[in-house]
Amino acid sequence: MKKTSRRVVIAGNWKMNMTPSAAKAAIEATAALVKGKDGCDVVLCVPFIDVATAVEAARGTNVKIGAQNVHFEKKGAFTGEISADMLKNAGCEYVIIGHSERRGYFGETDLDVNKKIKKALEKGLTPIMCCGESLEQREQGITAEWVSMQVKLGLQGIPAEDVKKMVIAYEPIWAIGTGKTATTEQAEEVCKLVRDTVRVIYNDETAEALRVQYGGSVNAGNAAELFAQPDIDGGLVGGASLKAEFGVVATA
Ligand code: PEP
Repeated sequence: MKKTSRRVVIAGNWKMNMTPSAAKAAIEATAALVKGKDGCDVVLCVPFIDVATAVEAARGTNVKIGAQNVHFEKKGAFTGEISADMLKNAGCEYVIIGHSERRGYFGETDLDVNKKIKKALEKGLTPIMCCGESLEQREQGITAEWVSMQVKLGLQGIPAEDVKKMVIAYEPIWAIGTGKTATTEQAEEVCKLVRDTVRVIYNDETAEALRVQYGGSVNAGNAAELFAQPDIDGGLVGGASLKAEFGVVATA
């Protein structure tokens, strides 16, 4: 499968920003900017409290709504958590899993990530699984080992047919929210490594179907060059997804 057969996916990650009323206006503005641009999937991953408003505001547009986390259990006594069933029922289509902020601030492990991916897939949500190295790991020269290990552990026990439906976002931690984007060569090198890791675990068909995003200070100025790389099928965008600039990134 050639890159052209994979559908580009540009996902915004609002993190802990936007009240429901601000969300409505922001989704409407993004929808207007990407109207008629049917060549890629445009997704906004919003805080849980915004999901209902965002789904309503995105109805009939080409903006899809996602969440930023999900619990791996079906239901029960997990105060403060949210299930895949709840997200699906509320109209979410995507969910970010294992973002470095979840791993770093909330202690999420590769095992948690793996269980969350399985539950999301079971309920028909598209997981965007994040991976990426710290600055220290890059300087130690262990980026490839670290990222391929995250991919292998995150995908453990997931059948090839399900992996083909997934998105993996390579996000070097040192580039997230810092304004310091990886060079095009660095981003392509590790996105290719992610795909080749999947090739080794599964097969060519699965590797070529998988969509791999780059994330880390993507903006209107660097998006087109990054997304033109052979193994980069779009981006996961934080800061710029909160601004009208996201419309430019999403149509780069
Ligand atoms: C992110 O939140 O996943 C991200 C990449 O953020 P930013 O674009 O702000 O670096």
